[in-house]
Amino acid sequence: MSKLRFDAIEQACKKHAVEVDVPQARPSEYFGELIFNREKMQKYLDSKTLKALLDCIDNGAHLDRNIADGVAAGMKQWAMEHGVTHCCHWFQPLTETTAEKHDSFMEYDWKGGMIEEFEGKSLVQQEPDASSFPSGGIRATFEARGYTAWDPTSPVFIMDDCLCIPTVFISYTGESLDYKAPLKKSIKAVSDAAVPICQLFDPSVTKVQVNLGWEQEYFLVDDNLYAARPDLIATGRTLMGHASSKNQQMDDHYFGQIPSRVQAFMKDVEIQGHRLGIPMKTRHNEVAPNQFEFAPIFGECNLAADQNMLIMGVMKKIARKHGFRVLLHEKPFEGINGSGKHNNWSLSTNTGVILYAPGKDPMGNLQFVTFFVNTLEAVRRHGSLLKASIASATNAHRLGANEAPPAIISAFLGKAMTDVLHKLLTVPDDTDIVIAGKHSYSLGLIELPEIFIDNTDRNRTSPFAFTGNRFEFRAVGSRANCSQSMTTLNTMVAEQLLDFKVDVDKEIAAGTPLKQAVMKTLKPIIARIIDTVCFDGNGYAPEWQKEAQKRGLDIERCVPKMILENVKPASVEMFERLGVFTKAELHARNEVKFETYAKLVQIEARVLGDLAINHIMPAATNYQSTLLKNVGMMKSLFPTEWTELSAPEIAIIKKISAYNSEIKDKVDAMVEKRKIANRIEDPYEKALAYSEIADSFFGIRKPIDKLEEIVDDNIWPMPKYRELLWIR
Ligand code: ADP
Ligand code: MG
Repeated sequence: MSKLRFDAIEQACKKHAVEVDVPQARPSEYFGELIFNREKMQKYLDSKTLKALLDCIDNGAHLDRNIADGVAAGMKQWAMEHGVTHCCHWFQPLTETTAEKHDSFMEYDWKGGMIEEFEGKSLVQQEPDASSFPSGGIRATFEARGYTAWDPTSPVFIMDDCLCIPTVFISYTGESLDYKAPLKKSIKAVSDAAVPICQLFDPSVTKVQVNLGWEQEYFLVDDNLYAARPDLIATGRTLMGHASSKNQQMDDHYFGQIPSRVQAFMKDVEIQGHRLGIPMKTRHNEVAPNQFEFAPIFGECNLAADQNMLIMGVMKKIARKHGFRVLLHEKPFEGINGSGKHNNWSLSTNTGVILYAPGKDPMGNLQFVTFFVNTLEAVRRHGSLLKASIASATNAHRLGANEAPPAIISAFLGKAMTDVLHKLLTVPDDTDIVIAGKHSYSLGLIELPEIFIDNTDRNRTSPFAFTGNRFEFRAVGSRANCSQSMTTLNTMVAEQLLDFKVDVDKEIAAGTPLKQAVMKTLKPIIARIIDTVCFDGNGYAPEWQKEAQKRGLDIERCVPKMILENVKPASVEMFERLGVFTKAELHARNEVKFETYAKLVQIEARVLGDLAINHIMPAATNYQSTLLKNVGMMKSLFPTEWTELSAPEIAIIKKISAYNSEIKDKVDAMVEKRKIANRIEDPYEKALAYSEIADSFFGIRKPIDKLEEIVDDNIWPMPKYRELLWIR
């Protein structure tokens, strides 16, 4: 074993679980201690300021300057009691991480000393140097600077010594430069579209909330093994590595016992999450070795999206303390499952009704069916766009790779709801929808199960699955910002709800009673979705590809082509109509996506080329030389028998030459392709050229992985899968 590998492994073996600083108090007591929540507002703000701020949070009222000063003063007092010295606007540029610039509270007091200051204007608005963040040409086009503006609906929080203020990031002419601004617009759009439909059933509904419960999958690897893998460091994934003899084939990792070092890490993340007001609930082992998951209790979508960004940052930080690196890449290891984020999504009313669960009475059930069917219709209409919302260079390795998601967007309903939809098509429009077993006769009724059989009725191969009281969008990438996919989903559903309402209103205007009007409008939609987007079968089966194509579903796998969907006429029309994106914004965002795609693949290509030529080939040649020396000595010692005696070595010598020349040829070809791609100006065309380069990686890694099997383990330059994938 090489010295480097030996040291790295030895150190990994020596590691023990780190003591976690568990607070004395119960989690419910320290929950939210690091956020400026309503309880803190009560304590630190006078009643006038409090009232104005709550009006702003709950009803979107404008916050005037005097009030902002009062809020800032209260926040400063609270923060300083926690030893805070700095503040920052925390925002989500189009980079898939968060950004922050810290300013200290220090100001001159103009009496020769310093004081701590935090004014309303610093709370409400700031101007980061926007030129260093991707904007897809927006600033060039509009000659505008960017600014960040406080989002009072997401609480201010303390991270270390800094008061962090969640903000949107927009240009001076109002174009969104981040993920949060459009998400907020889409949340409003879906509420505005859903409320009038809810009011058909209950006039007291005035607001509809979008809920998001994310499940975050991730891998952990030992810090020092990670340090010995240049590919992990630069790209977040292994670009080579032969499968470990034992990986996930025994199915013994999922829900298995959590190793004590990992458990300590999880505990630490949970405590910090709880202190930050994130309702962390679930932690468990995932399917692949070293793969784990966190999930909180679901909450309001904008807040939950922020919390996911926050927890990803917390995980990375805390992992270091425990001697780990957290991998949020969608496919860090070939041959075992990758990581996703499952976005559990639903709508609920201000009257406390979840719109994707059966109601209290037949009309409540009809309301549920209405939202259920319209959501599926939205997915049918804009499935390609929904796929575009999760398409990225890194998530591409999951798409179409036999792990949810397949590259085809379909929806799983489960037997109960599939039966209900089929039956709905055959009954008269005035049929009541009731809960099974709660009525005396069943003739002429549609029955819904009281609760949906949960886990048993799951289909893990479906990217968009109904799971009892919500839809679970399982195609989201593990490192992605949830807001992207949620913005698209919200807008699609909002559009469909608006169109549905127009049709129902026509029926009502023609004198059809409400229930019949709704049923009559739903039926043709149901007929459409059943034959297209609804699919309860195995999403990984090769037959599904053909079947999906027959159904007219999009089976595109090439990421740049998927991304193009964002600017197709139907998409532009929808986003503009709902006020979520302008055409210019959509084009700008796509430009960023294409550029990001090309850059990521370019980095991978460079690292792969470097490792292949500078690490792998020399190691293989080195071993080959040893073998050649051995054969030479055999020849001189056993002049007659040497060919027979050296046959195994000679076979390996030849193999090494063959693999080395294959590697060299393929790397050279890739470098040539890169030269051509780099000369392309158009961002889409360039991304497309890079997608072909990405396709060539597998051909390069194959001979490398073969070499790993035959080259002396002593001189193999990097930790192997068998080491990376087992926490000791
Ligand atoms: P599973 O792994 O079985 O899918 P988990 O318990 O890991 O389930 O995660 C389910 C997630 O869905 C949790 O975050 C949970 O709070 C969330 N969730 C539950 N009900 C809803 C709902 N109506 N809307 C949105 N999210 C929900
Ligand atoms: Mg789960």
